[in-house]
Amino acid sequence: MNATKLAIATVASLLTATVLAVFLSWVETQHAINIYGFSAMFVIPIGAIGCGFVSAIGFWLVSRVLHIRPTGAARFFPLLTALATFGIANYLSYTWFKFPNGASPSDVMSFVEYLKLVSTEASYSIGSSGNDTTIDRVGSLGYALTALQIIGFAGGGFLLSSTLTKIPWCETSERFMKKTAKHQRFFGEEGLGDQSHLAFAAMQATDIESVRSIVTNEQDKVKPRKRCVSLLLTEHACTHCGRHRHSLSQTERNGNNWAVTASAEFDEAGSPTLATAPPTPAIVS
Ligand SMILES: [Zn+2]
Repeated sequence: MNATKLAIATVASLLTATVLAVFLSWVETQHAINIYGFSAMFVIPIGAIGCGFVSAIGFWLVSRVLHIRPTGAARFFPLLTALATFGIANYLSYTWFKFPNGASPSDVMSFVEYLKLVSTEASYSIGSSGNDTTIDRVGSLGYALTALQIIGFAGGGFLLSSTLTKIPWCETSERFMKKTAKHQRFFGEEGLGDQSHLAFAAMQATDIESVRSIVTNEQDKVKPRKRCVSLLLTEHACTHCGRHRHSLSQTERNGNNWAVTASAEFDEAGSPTLATAPPTPAIVS
């Protein structure tokens, strides 16, 4: 990642963190709802995971447009953004919150003291309403809960950014590839025959035309059923150098369960103009 991309990704991340933190702190101080404090079964920080996920949106968008993979140093962006969001939101609450006498925590204590206080003095409710067990003061257990929140924040950020690593990547041009085609053929559980074997053999021989003709074959076409097998061919191309990636997978469905039972892929060099071919000129006579 070069310096320009690094700078833009940093600005986008900080911007998302700030906007989200302002919103979270506003809801917390004005409506007494701590969104990132929501947890399921006491320990699963779903609120924090959701907020962490949202905090990574700026990084995700910039990465998509500028072709940044979350590998190497870029891997830590979602973590740093999540921490920034958590820190800014708490700092804003520290200055915005008003005690009944009109004073703010910032008038009477340091930020670190405030963080200690909100961690240890928080009250938590467990169970469904009407049958709650309420812990009025969580004490030092609160540090563990705060740590869980921070982990949740970071986890949510990684959850979103990890979707970027699933997009096919052109090593030559250091760019994300674009999906150019997707074909899926379904077979009844009895009908796969040697079609799958032939398709995977063609993949091995990098004979993409044969794979396409098998997967796009309209004969004995079947609709997806409760029990079926399917072949999925996905094709991506790099708009910069024209390199192609072909991926074939075989999926077996049994009721609501899906399982990929075989997969193969290969890259193929292409013409640089292929993906960005100019329109064919009209023939003038
Ligand atoms: Zn390329």
